[in-house]
Amino acid sequence: MFKMIKKSLKTATVTGQYTSDSDNAPPVQCTAEAKRKAKPFRKSLTIREVDTGSCNACEMEMNALTNAVYDIERFGVHIAASPRHADALVVTGPVTVNMESALKDVFKTTPDPKLVIALGDCAINCGVFRDSYSVTGPVDRHVQVDIRIPGCPPKPTDILNVLAELRRS
Ligand code: SF4
Repeated sequence: MFKMIKKSLKTATVTGQYTSDSDNAPPVQCTAEAKRKAKPFRKSLTIREVDTGSCNACEMEMNALTNAVYDIERFGVHIAASPRHADALVVTGPVTVNMESALKDVFKTTPDPKLVIALGDCAINCGVFRDSYSVTGPVDRHVQVDIRIPGCPPKPTDILNVLAELRRS
């Protein structure tokens, strides 16, 4: 116990000391219209995650944003348990047959103005699941998408950079 406390006291702050390799990241599609829509959420943005059929790797990267290293809450970004409390939807995975109506319901339930972020190649263009019998298409086939973050999966730093850009807009 004392060993742990001693180690904690000796360890410097690790929050935000992640390595950023955004130079190598694929380009993010964040339109001027999306930036305009994001203006009311500069200081506080509540996100609802929607998994429409992903392999869960995109979620794991998204969830990593809440750990002690990335600590997304310090930027005023929160994860909500209900779409009724959300300002933005982060959708991962291709839209499967079973999740199509659920995605449309979540979209309708989220109050306006809202942002829709397609996270990962699968959400943008079905990725490795393209042409699967159970996939009905990418996210923008069913609901309007404002921001696209490519990658398989996108790195937490890529997601953080996009959210930082929205805050600056
Ligand atoms: S983009 Fe890659 S990591 Fe994300 S859901 Fe698709 S296969 Fe999985």
